[in-house]
Amino acid sequence: MTVATLSRGVDVRARKVIESGALSFGGGELVVIAGPCAVEDEETLLEVALGVRAAGARALRGGAYKPRSSPHSFQGLGRPGLKMLKDVAAAAGLAVVTEVLDTRDVEIVSEVADILQIGSRNMQNTALLKEAGRAQRPVLLKRGMSSTIEEWLLAAEYVRASGNEQVILCERGIRTFETATRNTLDLSAVSLLKELGDLPVIVDPSHATGLKELVPPMSRAAVAAGADGLLIEVHPRPEQALCDGQQSLTLSEFRLLMAQVTQLAAYTRQFSY
Ligand code: PEP
Ligand code: MN
Repeated sequence: MTVATLSRGVDVRARKVIESGALSFGGGELVVIAGPCAVEDEETLLEVALGVRAAGARALRGGAYKPRSSPHSFQGLGRPGLKMLKDVAAAAGLAVVTEVLDTRDVEIVSEVADILQIGSRNMQNTALLKEAGRAQRPVLLKRGMSSTIEEWLLAAEYVRASGNEQVILCERGIRTFETATRNTLDLSAVSLLKELGDLPVIVDPSHATGLKELVPPMSRAAVAAGADGLLIEVHPRPEQALCDGQQSLTLSEFRLLMAQVTQLAAYTRQFSY
């Protein structure tokens, strides 16, 4: 499926519903994935997991491998971080969504992740896309920060052509001339892909805006645009977070957001896209 084929439209029956355990993307439910930017330590992770679970999140996010702009920034805990994710998610009753950066790690990350995240910086890493295509896990494919919708769909096609049809697209903002926000959230891409594409689409307002004040309004806008889910950064003490604290919600802010988007999803789902 590329933009050229998009213009022909997709039969509504051909739209994919992607299941992962009890989670279902693209079937009408709003699936919220929440957690810290990075796995930092087990206590903090458990605090976030129990908090977001109580608020209605279905999956725990958190990077054990972090694609940082600087090699001198915190790179993630690696394997010990994966183990923390596994233990904490099991204790909290949440699925795990975590990023894989390297083809050599797809197997070990797949042992812990219910959904494999491929980040914006790796959207065109074709070796990684093909390896994820051989994994028996749904792939959450973030949009490259400077990628067109066509390039994004072709990246998804790499995963699909390698044998894995389970792809969830994640809009996380693109680079534009605007610098007041971290990226520019392209919500029209969400509605376009929901209208004409066959894959579920979720939105990450945290990386899209870089500002926690903008996460609630952009989450509400994403739901209104037809998003199948949200990926939200949450930290119990954002000022102490090892990365992306400025865009992380506290647990009480996240609870409020969940109440809003749950209500809004029930209302907006009556519209057909
Ligand atoms: C993330 O979600 O942890 C992340 C690094 O996001 P992105 O790939 O969208 O920058
Ligand atoms: Mn982050």
